[in-house]
Amino acid sequence: MKEFDYVILGGGCAGLSLAYELDINKKIENKSLAIIEKRDEYKRDKTWSFWKVNDHNFDDCIIKSWHNFSINSKSGSYEVLNKEYPYQTIDSGLFYRKILNQLKQNKNIEFFKSIDQLNLENSIVFNSIPVKENYEGKLWQHFKGIEIETPDNIFDDKIFNLMDFDCDQRDNVHFFYTLPFSKNKALIETTWLSKMNDKTLRDYDIQLEKYIKETLKIKNYRIIYQENGAIPLFYQISKNEKNKINIGSAGGMTRLSTGYTFLNIQDHSKYIVNNLEIIQSSKPYHIRRKYEFLDNVFLNVLKNHPDKMPQIFLNMFKAPSKTVIKFLSNKSNIFEDLRIIFKMPKWIFIKNIF
Ligand SMILES: Cc1cc2nc3c(=O)[nH]c(=O)nc-3n(C[C@H](O)[C@H](O)[C@H](O)COP(=O)(O)OP(=O)(O)OC[C@H]3O[C@@H](n4cnc5c(N)ncnc54)[C@H](O)[C@@H]3O)c2cc1C
Repeated sequence: MKEFDYVILGGGCAGLSLAYELDINKKIENKSLAIIEKRDEYKRDKTWSFWKVNDHNFDDCIIKSWHNFSINSKSGSYEVLNKEYPYQTIDSGLFYRKILNQLKQNKNIEFFKSIDQLNLENSIVFNSIPVKENYEGKLWQHFKGIEIETPDNIFDDKIFNLMDFDCDQRDNVHFFYTLPFSKNKALIETTWLSKMNDKTLRDYDIQLEKYIKETLKIKNYRIIYQENGAIPLFYQISKNEKNKINIGSAGGMTRLSTGYTFLNIQDHSKYIVNNLEIIQSSKPYHIRRKYEFLDNVFLNVLKNHPDKMPQIFLNMFKAPSKTVIKFLSNKSNIFEDLRIIFKMPKWIFIKNIF
């Protein structure tokens, strides 16, 4: 059986981000790294978006970035002007290609399909494979997105739509999300926040067609890419073992109230590389505890009062854009937290603390 100094379980976003960070910082020059990944081929399968509140390694994988965005509710559209932090969208296909091209130049890095060929006893293991457990009653952000191309230039590609709640809610929280990559190409997603126990919410294709034809008034279009997903709005962290460090979604890098994970993964990779020599004894990396607490209250409100959520989101975005973006990207200070908290309906939130 082969042995490696470092083993990464799962070569997806977190596994490859960490491998790349290790390699560019020359941490695998005199060490060995194995990446265990079950997929047969890498191609675009996700579109990662986030507010760039921190630098990361993947500016050259960006499809498009925007400053301003809108939120729609039944009562109209609200535009948020944001000069500070661009909202960036990354093409996972370009991300995988960039990283794999870099890693294949290092002969100390090897890929394997399964863990069975390795002896992990003396390795430091970074795990991004989530544990399977009973998910009943837990909240998910589940969605389908399609990228469409139109013969005419119809999109305003200077502004994206973060949430359009002016749609069927079916006793859950539902919105559409539109990222115009150019004047004739856009990614349009139908997104639900639900316990996923109602299969009828998953008629995504019908929802998307209706929204594109009736709301966006686009009759003629071609689907050029599609993606499906379900992001757990709860932690799927496997138990800590002596030589194992959890990363990615499996390491709690998803912000529970929003599903944003990509930039947290990048921050975590940098933390690991900066502390590599003492990583097994250094304190585990977390999205700060205050966000865990605030997000749990927020999700309790969401579970118990889904009908109130469109207005709650709208009120939140009426705080200064820099404040909301920092809050949603886990970079806010206490004064910024308070500005957001004061925008929330107090009694409902207090009643949902426990
Ligand atoms: C469609 C989609 C869109 C998303 N969009 C955004 C976004 O816009 N912004 C954002 O911040 N977050 C987004 N997320 C959330 C999050 O960023 C992604 O899920 C991200 O890929 C998480 O990285 P990860 O490494 O934890 O998991 P993954 O990227 O899923 O990587 C896990 C890897 O482990 C492999 N694997 C699993 N089981 C095994 C096994 N038994 N043996 C070997 N290999 C295995 C998988 O094949 C996979 O490659 C999105 C998620 C999805 C699903």
